Amino acid sequence: MLRWIAHIDMDAFFVEVERRLDPSLAGKPIIVGGDPDGRGVVAACSYETRRFGVHSAMPLRRAKQLCPHAIFLRGHIPAYADYSRRIRLLLQSYTPLVEMASVDEAYLDLTGTERLHGPPPEAVERILSRIRSEIGLPASAGLAANKLVAKVACDTAKPSGFRVVLHGTEADFLAPLPMRQLPGIGPKLEAQLSRYGIATIGDIVALGESTLRTLFGPSGSDLFYRCQGMDDSPVQIAYEARSMSHETTFEQDTGHRPTLERTLSYLAERVARRLRRHRLRARCITLKLRYSDFQTVTRRLTLVEPTCDDREIYAAARRLLDRAWTRRAWLRLLGIAASSLTDAQWQMDLLADETEESRAALAAAIDRIKGRYGFDAILRARSFHGDSDAAKKNPSSG
Ligand SMILES: [Mg+2]
Repeated sequence: MLRWIAHIDMDAFFVEVERRLDPSLAGKPIIVGGDPDGRGVVAACSYETRRFGVHSAMPLRRAKQLCPHAIFLRGHIPAYADYSRRIRLLLQSYTPLVEMASVDEAYLDLTGTERLHGPPPEAVERILSRIRSEIGLPASAGLAANKLVAKVACDTAKPSGFRVVLHGTEADFLAPLPMRQLPGIGPKLEAQLSRYGIATIGDIVALGESTLRTLFGPSGSDLFYRCQGMDDSPVQIAYEARSMSHETTFEQDTGHRPTLERTLSYLAERVARRLRRHRLRARCITLKLRYSDFQTVTRRLTLVEPTCDDREIYAAARRLLDRAWTRRAWLRLLGIAASSLTDAQWQMDLLADETEESRAALAAAIDRIKGRYGFDAILRARSFHGDSDAAKKNPSSG
């Protein structure tokens, strides 16, 4: 079956998010990465700096030499993650087959969505204009029969462009492009092929499969077919987060069981809230504890059903505390991590029943209040910290 794969890639993503946070940065040369006199590299740069030769992964000092008038920013990683999540949710309203290839680019398998969303080229146009109007960021797109060609199409359309490569025209589209446009051809291979007078992707094809096999072995055949735009790799659903965790260091080491349990309850609420905000559920819960002599122990368990419910996470953490806290020594830190994350929306569909729905409604209502008044506005009774508590609330996330 002929496939339709779209590649959507945000233009200068970190820079454009910074401009959403501070509109006065519009049109100015911006480099995200940190202290220009430090050892870091450019994480992202605006198009205004690229004409001076600045590019990502370049040392910041070099970028400052090339573009001394640029505005250097440290960056706001939580904001990037938040925008990335919003983009993913928007894309998932077109198809569940969304592969986030990085924080700001995704592949969508639009095969068979015509009846829902119309012809794929029109669907992609609409996606781009919704990203622009609802999220406020510029993006580019490529649409083709596979991921490889869709990505190259998108790269050649940047910035703020869209290119469709029709079925059967892949080889003709790629042939005139410089060979480094093909993903997988790095500087080393480029240098090697340049010695044979090769400049374009079409030049590589013209060498023929047997010559390429002689030069590169079996991967020479792969190269021959990829250069003609052949690729059957599937769009794979992936998640941006591998785990979510919160931990608390006690102001004074403690062995007071009620204090430890209240702390676990508090941490479970924080982890659960974060899962719900990302519309994820966790199948694995890990407890981390650190003794006063800094020995650190972790214990984990796997749940029967993935969850984003703080009561279930708390129950699991309490069981793990019994298993992990085996020494007769006081503790200085407790942490809870949730991992093996799955997309909550799928689970909602599969598990929908009344208790599930009413629990979800309750959780959503609590999240709304916390969103408005701060996390501590509503805590479960067992999470309350009295004045006598030794626990200090300084949870760090990871
Ligand atoms: Mg990008």
